[in-house]
Amino acid sequence: MNRWIGLDIGGTKILGSLYGEDDKPIAQSKKKTKAKEGIVVVLDQIFKVIDALYKEIPEIEHSEILGIGVGVPGLITTDGIVKFSPNIPFKDFELQSKIEKKYNVPVSIGNDVNVAMFGEYKFISNALYKNVLGLFIGTGIGGAIIIDSQLYIGQGAAAEFGHIVVNADGAFCGCGAQGCLEAYASKTAMQRYIETQLSKGRLSSLKDFRDTDGAVIKSSTLQNAYASNDPLAVEVIQYASKYLGIAIGSLINMFHPDLFILGGGIIESLGSEMMPLMLKEAERHAMPGLLTSVKFETSKLGDDAGVYGAFQFIKNHI
Ligand SMILES: [Zn+2]
Repeated sequence: MNRWIGLDIGGTKILGSLYGEDDKPIAQSKKKTKAKEGIVVVLDQIFKVIDALYKEIPEIEHSEILGIGVGVPGLITTDGIVKFSPNIPFKDFELQSKIEKKYNVPVSIGNDVNVAMFGEYKFISNALYKNVLGLFIGTGIGGAIIIDSQLYIGQGAAAEFGHIVVNADGAFCGCGAQGCLEAYASKTAMQRYIETQLSKGRLSSLKDFRDTDGAVIKSSTLQNAYASNDPLAVEVIQYASKYLGIAIGSLINMFHPDLFILGGGIIESLGSEMMPLMLKEAERHAMPGLLTSVKFETSKLGDDAGVYGAFQFIKNHI
């Protein structure tokens, strides 16, 4: 029986799953990333997760593991080198060849959002659609481009949809540029908008999230406030949806995909509220008639998208 391993390397934890031919996980493994302890320790943690998965099956069947797929945050080159990663001390690190050498199987490494969205695509589409875009809205904003059923990464960093300019002279973004989508519609941007309004003396049930120092607003807190018609919650959701709609309209003009998948924490909590607002705005920016020909779906896999996507990524490469 053929098997594959999917690995999701995050800033705090490394998740791994062993999959069989029915696309179902056979075993799972999890370890802390220990990013602060340096690259040697992180690599060792990665190996521990993979070792644990190998140990789940008898040694005689180890040769049935055909490859390992990996999702990592950051910029990954087409030959599997992690140029840099925001929360993990990878710097021009040859992660792919290091794992390949140790386990003697093919390894494919991709950006975490690219890989997770590829997983969502495989799960939702099942070959029905060939040209697909993914937009991931969480703490930051990322995306994925799938052309002819394959992930398109350009030189490595394609689909950075968070940095599409939606307001040329607008807010500054973490990337240094001005007016990026991420500066308007990520959870971080929404929180900043809320904090600015609260500091102006606006009354809102959202004020409570600031009780703990450095607290990050929960998507569910926003969802509850929106459901109870809190004016500031309604306003910030309309605000973010507007800018997301502008980007979605432009992306449709550029790619005219069969399917558009929206995912991430914000969509998981507020997708049904935001979708009509986003589509209404996108309609204003897409060429006439294009929007209605695109199918929209929200992500389905939640926290499993990373490992499942990594598995589909390597399965697709072999
Ligand atoms: Zn930016």
